[in-house]
Amino acid sequence: MALFGNLSDRLADTFTKLRSKGKLSPADVDGTVREIRRALLEADVALEVVKDFTGRIRERALGDEVNKALNPAQQVVQIVNEELIGILGGQTRRLEFAKQPPTVIMLAGLQGAGKTTLAGKLSKWLKSEGHTPMLVAADLQRPNAVTQLQVVGEQAGVPVFAPEPGNGKGDPIRVAKDAIKEANRKQYDTVIVDTAGRLGVDAELMKQAAGIRKAVDPDEVLFVIDSLIGQDAVQTARAFQDGVDFTGVVLTKLDGDSRGGAALSVASVTGRPIMFASTGEGLDDFEPFHPDRMASRILD
Ligand code: GDP
Repeated sequence: MALFGNLSDRLADTFTKLRSKGKLSPADVDGTVREIRRALLEADVALEVVKDFTGRIRERALGDEVNKALNPAQQVVQIVNEELIGILGGQTRRLEFAKQPPTVIMLAGLQGAGKTTLAGKLSKWLKSEGHTPMLVAADLQRPNAVTQLQVVGEQAGVPVFAPEPGNGKGDPIRVAKDAIKEANRKQYDTVIVDTAGRLGVDAELMKQAAGIRKAVDPDEVLFVIDSLIGQDAVQTARAFQDGVDFTGVVLTKLDGDSRGGAALSVASVTGRPIMFASTGEGLDDFEPFHPDRMASRILD
């Protein structure tokens, strides 16, 4: 895939050079770390993440595990692999389901991030896993959002709870609360709440999202972020972390021409795992995220 293409190539070159050496001198390690640093910065990874990452690589590469290794270069590649898995969130993190259904999953993120599309994808996937999801249209900001969710719900074969037509703009908190009651009544086991986004982070949006969070007490809050956002990823993620304190991240548009920086920055700076990846406009372009597999793809 296009994602990480450049980064992958750059790291592959660096490792090829490294493998041509036997024992590694501190100067070799420094040269390698510098190249990794440059490659990550060019991939739009946030500076603070790059510093942290390369600092750890350097420290480990100068230590005994490399010094005493039969194949020091290979050992360095292994360290980069482990650290990459680490910044991508470590172990695969699966959705947590409530002991007492319904499990409530709230989606938050900027407008255009891909929340509504994701709601459809997630619901279709949950259905295929044997769950009985319901979608909730709590994005009452954008005129078309409710209809868009209804279309997506129909495609996924999943019911959509929406405010009565003609009910003014409606109150998203009310809608979300009513939706949970409906899910209880009809025994849907998961409720996915789509919320409003704005083009930029704004206080009113955050207040509304926080209000919905409080009202529905979700089991998971997924922060949906467009991987094409580049260097803005960190600031946006932090704003949503402060505003709604999400439990996991969903990266969208991984099929696009992203350099991958957002993917490598967000989990690391927020300490929240990337849980799903969205890889296209179709409802099936969606997969659970596995940090180890993504690291292998980068280092392939
Ligand atoms: P929302 O405003 O956050 O609800 O975003 P939407 O779900 O409406 O998505 C915005 C646009 O991005 C739509 O045109 C989607 O078809 C498109 N989109 C969403 N996810 C992906 C993805 O993973 N890849 C691609 N290429 N497009 C996507």
